[in-house]
Amino acid sequence: MAELIPVETAQEIVLANTPEMPVEEVSLLDALGRVVARDLVSDVDINGFADAAMDGFALKAADIADASAEHPVTLKIVDVVGAGYLYNGELKSGEAVRIMTGAAMPEGSDTNVKIEDVEVSGDGLTGQTVTFREPVQAGTNVRQPGEEAKAGQTVFLRGDKVNAAGAGLLASTGNTSVPVFARPRVAIISIGSELVDSSTVPPMGKKRDSNRYTLAAMARDAGAEVTMYPIVADEPEAIVASYTKAAAENDVVVSSGGACGGDFDYVAQVIGSLGEVKFEYVNMRPGKAQTFGVAPDGTLLFGLSGNPAACATGFEMLVRPALRKAQGHRELARPSVQAKLGDYKSKKKEIRRFYVRGVLERDADGELAAIPLKRQSSALIGTTSQCNCFIVIPEGGAPVAPGTDVECIRIDLEEGTVL
Ligand code: AMP
Ligand code: MG
Repeated sequence: MAELIPVETAQEIVLANTPEMPVEEVSLLDALGRVVARDLVSDVDINGFADAAMDGFALKAADIADASAEHPVTLKIVDVVGAGYLYNGELKSGEAVRIMTGAAMPEGSDTNVKIEDVEVSGDGLTGQTVTFREPVQAGTNVRQPGEEAKAGQTVFLRGDKVNAAGAGLLASTGNTSVPVFARPRVAIISIGSELVDSSTVPPMGKKRDSNRYTLAAMARDAGAEVTMYPIVADEPEAIVASYTKAAAENDVVVSSGGACGGDFDYVAQVIGSLGEVKFEYVNMRPGKAQTFGVAPDGTLLFGLSGNPAACATGFEMLVRPALRKAQGHRELARPSVQAKLGDYKSKKKEIRRFYVRGVLERDADGELAAIPLKRQSSALIGTTSQCNCFIVIPEGGAPVAPGTDVECIRIDLEEGTVL
């Protein structure tokens, strides 16, 4: 058997062979969740003018500098200006403009006294008066031009991810078309003569293919554009044909099955015939048989373990980081937390790194507890569907007892989340 390499080494090899995808321009809303591929600037000052931060009266602060309860100051209301409209002319001493939030401050005014702090005559509209009983500092309730961004200012750096508020910032800065890293095209293949499509009831000796759906969903969740290829029998020629087509049509090929080095397991051999095998076995469980190779044109070829939990773990640890790197994400590792290990019966010695599928809970003292799920067989995908973390039992170590502090990989949280 080829060398069993540490997970970290396998990840380094995969990432070293994963280039960034080319840049494509997408519409603003389609940029959501994607990574900006060039620095982006604002085309204008936002706002391009000083505007009212509240509904109030625009005036010259000097006019009411001496206002007091004993000596109130009264100004003439010369106009009422809503957001989107302008005061025609220049505000003079002794005048005030009734102004709404977001409206441009009239030329000649420097301050906006909020409506709650004044008294008006009549209906308080044009032609009436407004009275002030205290002075206000110049500039109060006025938003200065360019507060959000100045024209030419960088608002997004290459490598920043676009979130919902970011979409708003891009919109206001005129970035309606956004350069982002393209989504990798990922082919999903299931290998196994026992497999039938999920739409049929499996006859004796056959089983439904679940891995294509798990892997397609995981790839889509990682931002890829996914194509499922037909189930392939355990026959080298059929696997070569499927892989050749998939590799020609995609940036990444991910297969499961045919990976254990058994009599009918051909995937490493096939990957070797199409490109260069970088590794075949990773020191992890479930699923040590995880093959990775690279085709001459750079297509990444992953031959994951067939057991459903093993293939999901292989994708999580090896394929997902590559898909993220390809799309320009800075953060490639899921967040980890330390937690007290719950009920767990350790092997005498854990030879391989064990990713125990678990659930994180708060115990009665408010401490984080990592509860291993009952059934850890690598054949069971249900356990992976129920878990929210991988509890890491280190390889080659002494038995790990309940109550020990263990690392938990939060597979339910996005990379870069601060805990
Ligand atoms: P293999 O890697 O081909 O030796 O497969 C290991 C185990 O995983 C066998 O029990 C297979 O039947 C099972 N298996 C392989 N591929 C799939 C799949 N796509 N869906 C469900 N089970 C699978
Ligand atoms: Mg098989």
